Formats: sequence, C-alpha cells, structure tokens
Amino acid sequence: MLQQTQVKTVIPFWERWLRELPTVQSLAECPEARLLKLWEGLGYYRRVRHLQLAARVIVEEQGGRFPEGFEAILKLPGIGRYTAGAISSLAFNQPRPILDGNVIRVLCRLFAIRGNPRDRTVNESLWRLAEQLVQAASAIKSARLNGPNGSLRFSGPCSVLNQSLMELGATVCTPRAPDCAQCPLRGSCAGNRLGIAESLPAAAADARPTQLTHVGFVVQRRGRYLVRQRPAGRVNGGLWEFPGVELDVGQTNNPAQLAGALGLRLVQPGPVVVVRHSITRYRITLEVYLAKIDQRNRAIKRAGEWLTLEALDALAFTSAHRKVLVRLKAASGAKPRLLRQSK
Ligand code: SF4
Repeated sequence: MLQQTQVKTVIPFWERWLRELPTVQSLAECPEARLLKLWEGLGYYRRVRHLQLAARVIVEEQGGRFPEGFEAILKLPGIGRYTAGAISSLAFNQPRPILDGNVIRVLCRLFAIRGNPRDRTVNESLWRLAEQLVQAASAIKSARLNGPNGSLRFSGPCSVLNQSLMELGATVCTPRAPDCAQCPLRGSCAGNRLGIAESLPAAAADARPTQLTHVGFVVQRRGRYLVRQRPAGRVNGGLWEFPGVELDVGQTNNPAQLAGALGLRLVQPGPVVVVRHSITRYRITLEVYLAKIDQRNRAIKRAGEWLTLEALDALAFTSAHRKVLVRLKAASGAKPRLLRQSK
C-alpha cells in the first residue's frame, strides 16, 4: 500500500482493509470485485492481485502461516528481493539487506558513491554494502539507546538497522536539503564532509517523463451512463472506466474522429473535464467529452454496461476515471454541460 503513497494517505485504506479482510484466509477467498474496490485509489493494481495470490499460497501450501525463511518468502507471488529482505529483517530480524529509494540515497551520501544507482554495477555494489551493514548489525546481541525517558533497551538489531536507514532517508537525509546538522551519522558521512551530499545520488540520464493523452467520453441515456471494464492482463485490468481511447505518443488528438470510431458523436466540441495524473514515468492528461450514440452505429450500446450514478459508485474505477465520476455526481443536479473543466 505504501508504494508511491504517503503513510497518512494509506492509513484509512489500511484500517478498512483490516476490518474487511482480517485474516489471510479471508483475503485468499475475497471475490475480485470486492478486492479491487478495497484497493481503489491506491493504484498499481498488480500488487493487490499478487497479495491475494500470495495469501492463497500461504493458505494452501503453508497451512495459513506466513513463512519465515527468506527463500520461502521470495517464492511468494509479487515478492522480490527488496520486499523479501524487508520482511525477513524487519519482522524476523534476519541479516538480509534492503535497498529502496531512501536507503539508496543514504548509502550514496554516506559513502560518497557518485555513480548512477540504476547502473547495474553500482546497484550491485549498493546491495553488497547494505548486506555488509546488516551482517555487522547481526553480531550485536542487544544494545541500549538513549531515549527521551532514559535508556531504552532494544533487541533485533537487523530490524532496527534497516528501519533506521529507511527512516533516516525519509525524515533527515531527504532528497532536497538534507538536515545534516541534525543527522546522527554526520561525523562519518563522506558526502557531508566533501560538501557533495545534496548532489547525490546521481540522477538517471533518462529521467524525463513521457507525456500521454487519453480521451474519454461520458455517454448518458435515460439516467444511465455507459461504462466498461478494462480487460484482464492490461494495466488496471478489471477496473471500470468511461469508454475512450488511449493515444500513443505522437498520435493526433481528434476527439470527434475518435468518438466516431467508437460509434459516438460529440455533444459539444470542448472537453468537460480534464484530469492530469502520473503513472511511473508517464504524465497522462485525460480529456473527457460529452457524447451521444451515433444512431448509424448502435453496436456501442452493447459495448459495456449502462448504470446509474449510484450503481457506478459501487464499482472500482481507475483513479482518473473516479475523478470524472466524482465530478459527474457533483454536477448531477445540474445539466451535464455545466460540468466545469478541472485539473
Ligand atoms: Fe545524509 Fe547529511 Fe546524514 Fe550524510 S550527514 S547521511 S548527507 S543527512
């Protein structure tokens, strides 16, 4: 849930999830539509599908108990080297390294590593460094920390080390303006000593985002709206959306022509809603137009479901199309042409 999403945003999702699916068994058995609805708004829907597949493996092959061994964790669907390392070290205090964006930034600055972390050789050397650190931590049996109310004893040094690296990157060694004056590592930080901390890690050469345009159509008939479900296997597969077209890079945007190809005609030339959003390196602009069925091509009537606004609300929509739905609901008391443009 926390991938690309802040903790404060995730908390209500997390609480609702635990209320609805409190056990691994309930997750394994949850119908897909319910699962997608619970995840709606978090994006990256492959994760929730993997989560359910992993729950099924745990129920069917592990007797309903989460495995503790690194290799067994790594075999679960959707779990890669980073997540397996995070679970092994944080939950089970095993000496397994982790390397996410925050840890990469801290290590690059701490050891003044100037290469691009996306470069394979640099990336592997960062993994080795993270492993050496957690191996060294595993030799510590227990220790004392100075807490605000006196001395705090802690155990689980591998867990503490990896959590500390992540937390330091999230709160002190931040991408811009690291707070070196407050940093507990400043005495041994090569990046700080050399005055190059803020320039690290090196930016990837191909970091420029790709601009994409999607065109959607709101078609209303007798108080019902035409929507369709994205096919399985595609990005956001299984989620619902208003009909439309996803233009390729460089493809001309001619909404009237695009509508015609779907068996629709524009009600008015300009978009009624514009939604901008990002998925990984893509910056997507969704233009939404009011349209009606072209009576010469009635096949569109059967190209999806015709549902009321209330019924649409119960479905799991892609984030961008959910914004369109919210706008439609807000304007449902007014004539659709009164929908105002939004960003
Ligand atoms: Fe990051 Fe500064 Fe701490 Fe070095 S001293 S780890 S650059 S916050």
